[in-house]
Amino acid sequence: MAYTSLYRQFRPDTFDKVIGQDHIVRTLRNQIANGSVGHAYIFTGTRGTGKTSVSKIFARAVNCLHPLGDGSPCGKCENCVGLAEAGNFDILEIDAASNNSVDQIRDLTDKINFPPTIGRYKVYIVDEVHMLSKAAFNALLKTLEEPPKHAIFILATTEIHQIPATILSRCLRFDFRLVPNGVIAKRICDIFDELGIKYQREAAELIASSGAGSVRDALSVADMCVSYCNGNVTYDGVLEVLGASDPHKLQELGKAVADGNVDAALRIAAELCDLGKSIPVLANDLATLFRNALCIKMCTSAKELLALPESIYADLYGLAQAYPTNRLLSVMRAMSGLEGELRYSVQHRIIFEGALVSACLGAESEAGLDELRARVARLEKMLSEARRSGFNTAPAIKDATQVWLHIASELKVRGYGVLASAVRDARFEIVGEEFKINLADHATYLMVTEKTNRDALNAVFAAEPLAQGLRLSINEIIRLDDGKAEAYIKDMFGQMVDIV
Ligand SMILES: [Zn+2]
Repeated sequence: MAYTSLYRQFRPDTFDKVIGQDHIVRTLRNQIANGSVGHAYIFTGTRGTGKTSVSKIFARAVNCLHPLGDGSPCGKCENCVGLAEAGNFDILEIDAASNNSVDQIRDLTDKINFPPTIGRYKVYIVDEVHMLSKAAFNALLKTLEEPPKHAIFILATTEIHQIPATILSRCLRFDFRLVPNGVIAKRICDIFDELGIKYQREAAELIASSGAGSVRDALSVADMCVSYCNGNVTYDGVLEVLGASDPHKLQELGKAVADGNVDAALRIAAELCDLGKSIPVLANDLATLFRNALCIKMCTSAKELLALPESIYADLYGLAQAYPTNRLLSVMRAMSGLEGELRYSVQHRIIFEGALVSACLGAESEAGLDELRARVARLEKMLSEARRSGFNTAPAIKDATQVWLHIASELKVRGYGVLASAVRDARFEIVGEEFKINLADHATYLMVTEKTNRDALNAVFAAEPLAQGLRLSINEIIRLDDGKAEAYIKDMFGQMVDIV
């Protein structure tokens, strides 16, 4: 007996067997139930998400004499049996990739005027419709504008942006979604159960995730795994079929890169390569690893979303918790950017190792920055503690200038730029709890103490975090030839100096 692929063998023939496209199935069933079936549909979405399967079910459903409760074709009535035959003239499947000329479309649209021979409707399913030539689209458009009552067109495409707007506007559009891993995994388990194939739950999940949302792709991997594993589909077996890296070894590599450990990263990468893993697969696996770690870090339902085997999830959770988001993100970016570069090069290993090293060095510079930030924070804390305890620290003059720079920039933001510049040349100092602005000329003193300016300065000073616990005082420095000089100097230096 010839082998039939799982995908063909388990192709859905009723609406309830279609997975992951509930929004579409429900609308189509309602249209059948209400007798409001359209004449032109466009189905779009990634390959293997069910466009053709749904088209075929729908085509039979609109013709079935005794549809099932959910609107699905019964598969038994005269019409269903007639339409199941390959040579029938009522359901026509056209592959636009190989029939894309205007003559072929004209031939098709000419014949559409003949009434159906079996049921009520003639259904034309045009696959890969984006492949039609411009002239062919125009010929099709004419028919779509005034289709005979018995005609239904279903146009299927993976490239909706290549379909002319004139065609789109005549069609009911349905977007087929990527099918979630969990849903595909359940389908695979059901199929294995039905066929009496032994399997590990994790194996089915890994197969599902390899399909990346496409049921067809996942089922063709399942096919290979069944043959390879000889009736007992294990996680390790699936890994071997996929050529994927050992997930634990891969985690080790991920950790080395995140740590910035160039030596370990290159060594583990070499080990994986020696095991025969291809570099593009390895780069992709590493990008996925960090993508998953980010998902765990950022997303509360990560566990359900990722559907990973328990031990792999636990490892990944550790990785996610051990590094800051930025670090995970930068490694993911470094690795996912490689795909394009590798495609156009033969020097895979060099490019990959270069990317590993630069991702590792990224850790170093990020760690350097973190260290610097920590040091600044420590210094600021020490300073503010010293100030709170009333200790007049040595760098007080410099620190006062710092406080002023903050205040000046805020003054500029609030529209007091002139004031800020005028005070620029003053001497700033912190004495005890007093922040002193010592102005050297009288004109500036008058300007600063003018009510509007003084109020603005007070407001900014009060709001400045660096100035917390300090009191603002504005002073005019008296020239030494002035009579008050002695008092001023005594005030500044206390009893330490004698004025001669
Ligand atoms: Zn039927």
